[in-house]
Amino acid sequence: MFDYHMHTDVSPDSDLRLKDLCTLAIRKGLKEICITDHYCVKKGCIHYQTKSTRDAQIKEIKKIRKQFPKLKIRYGIEMDYHGDNEKEIHSFLNHNDIDFVIGSLHYYGFNLLDKPWFRLMREQLRGFFNHLKKIASKPSGKHLYKARSLYNLTAFPELYFRKKKYLENYYALMKKAIQSELFDVIGHCTEFTRYAHFQYSQYKEYLKECAALMKKHKVGFEINMGLLFSPDEESVALLVNHGVKNITIGSDTHNEHQLRYADYAKAKKILQKCGIKKICSFHKRKRTYEVL
Ligand SMILES: [Zn+2]
Ligand SMILES: [Zn+2]
Repeated sequence: MFDYHMHTDVSPDSDLRLKDLCTLAIRKGLKEICITDHYCVKKGCIHYQTKSTRDAQIKEIKKIRKQFPKLKIRYGIEMDYHGDNEKEIHSFLNHNDIDFVIGSLHYYGFNLLDKPWFRLMREQLRGFFNHLKKIASKPSGKHLYKARSLYNLTAFPELYFRKKKYLENYYALMKKAIQSELFDVIGHCTEFTRYAHFQYSQYKEYLKECAALMKKHKVGFEINMGLLFSPDEESVALLVNHGVKNITIGSDTHNEHQLRYADYAKAKKILQKCGIKKICSFHKRKRTYEVL
């Protein structure tokens, strides 16, 4: 199996060391992994990183490849997309050693990150989340989920107050991300289901529009096996039926626990049900189809 969405401690919300991640990946029976840490070109964003972090990480990955000759280790990026920084993203991604890029909409719907008090509140919640991880040697998924949801909620005030407007804006931004052709796949394209309950019937029309654009611009999507599967089964079927066939599978691992319980068989089953026989791997941004 291939895992094309994994975080290390380069991401602010992961404490997994690269070497440990590789050891765990081998133990899990993975053949190929792609490291996809959070990056954002926007100063003040929690995922903001500079090119020097990127270059240091590329160096580290080149070294680690020698220590794990049986594991194919690709270098990827999970890039935040806010809609107004395409030139900077393009320049950031202009590096020959980047294999794969996920475009993700994480913090859409607010600009409170500009406010110091808001950043402080988020930091405190993050501290709480990290504390919880530390005190529980094997934190249950439920606790982590609760803590993470609380943390993530602070990024989505619109979600609770103006649901329809939220969906409209979220997918308008996703369409822009697809049209930018900056990304190989769109990350967790029904991300909001993690934070609030939306019915498939509420967002399917928006997703249909995205599917048409994905096909046109040759952008794919990922099956993200994070805290919840995103997209859900019905959405995967919709995307596939509308001709989007470039698909990657990723656990969105941020800690040991998530990788240990990553359900690749379930992801495989969902895709097989939709008639998908091949998934994508990437090398220097070039796609190859692999038998599922
Ligand atoms: Zn993400
Ligand atoms: Zn991620």
